[in-house]
Amino acid sequence: MKKDFFPTQLDFGPFQIYLARHFGFCYGVENAIEIAFRTIEENPGKRIFLLSEMIHNPQVNADLQSHGVQFLQDNHGKTLIAFEELKAEDIVLIPAFGTTLEIEKKLNALGIQTEKFNTTCPFVEKVWNRSEAIAKENYTVVIHGKPTHEETRATFSHAAFNAPSVVVKDMSEAIDLSRFILGERSPELFYEEFKEQYSKDFDPKKDLQRIGVVNQTTMLASDTQAIADFLKQTMIKKFGDGNVGEHFADTRDTLCYATNDNQTAVIEMLNIDADLAIVVGGYNSSNTSHLVELCEEKLPTYFINNEENIISNKEIRNYDLHSKQERLTTNFLPGKFPLKILLTSGASCPDALVEGVIRKLESFYPVTKTHRQILKEFGEK
Ligand code: SF4
Repeated sequence: MKKDFFPTQLDFGPFQIYLARHFGFCYGVENAIEIAFRTIEENPGKRIFLLSEMIHNPQVNADLQSHGVQFLQDNHGKTLIAFEELKAEDIVLIPAFGTTLEIEKKLNALGIQTEKFNTTCPFVEKVWNRSEAIAKENYTVVIHGKPTHEETRATFSHAAFNAPSVVVKDMSEAIDLSRFILGERSPELFYEEFKEQYSKDFDPKKDLQRIGVVNQTTMLASDTQAIADFLKQTMIKKFGDGNVGEHFADTRDTLCYATNDNQTAVIEMLNIDADLAIVVGGYNSSNTSHLVELCEEKLPTYFINNEENIISNKEIRNYDLHSKQERLTTNFLPGKFPLKILLTSGASCPDALVEGVIRKLESFYPVTKTHRQILKEFGEK
């Protein structure tokens, strides 16, 4: 049931898994992977490149590489293979997050077709359309996103083509921006504080009179809402309540359905009085890290790539979002019966990895039911 966000309980006896009602692959990722493998199949002998990671999942990217696909850039935009080495007959796949107009232009100038091999997710394009609509009404586009994330760079490039644009990473940057809006800070300081986050010729005196907010599709819904509300209040403070629409475009958030559903399912799952949470996904995946943030607020949370990170029933290698490093945690499974574990995964994580985690946990306990038996109860043949 689409609107039922209650987690699914898998009862193994000594431990119970509460599986988020919505988790894992989204439409955009499935679509991108399908196009990528179809392209490989239909173009034997051709050189196939990916602009950068197809999606933020190491297994999927390794799988593509094992089929001969090469990456042009790493996911920070660093060149791995120079564009000059490309030939017109090469195929370059645009990833699900889309790309900048500048890169598209560069590829087209080399004679490479970008339309046919473009896997940009329609939900990302929806954000570009939304920002274009705001731009047409002469609003400056404020993008809530991670400034170096491929999707935000692509959205920024499309927005900046149509209107002055600026990226804000979080509430603290939104507060900074509000000080420039209210004239509390000298406009000259804007260029230092928002370095590499504003469009060419941005003029903080002129371009912060009318604004609208869009976001990277995988941000935390509550953060985007709080930032939009805060900036709206800033406009009311500056221009008064009467004509706020003149200064603040009322855009609903531009999170995609998958981000929304996965986050709502985690929020619902957190109502369970559980002992720990495991979140599976790529460490550089934005939507996955937001699921981790939600869980971390409530209970011990382990962010892992796959089941291999679960070394034994005593040790788990997991990613610390704050230090941005892997760490080893011991005694992560409390000796409590039944142990309650929350489990979910990000939009770029194949379901097989979640199943691998379940199987690994199962191997540690004298279960009363195997995962096969449990799956049968859910109707799997
Ligand atoms: S997370 Fe959303 S926007 Fe991103 S690829 Fe998936 S469906 Fe598209």
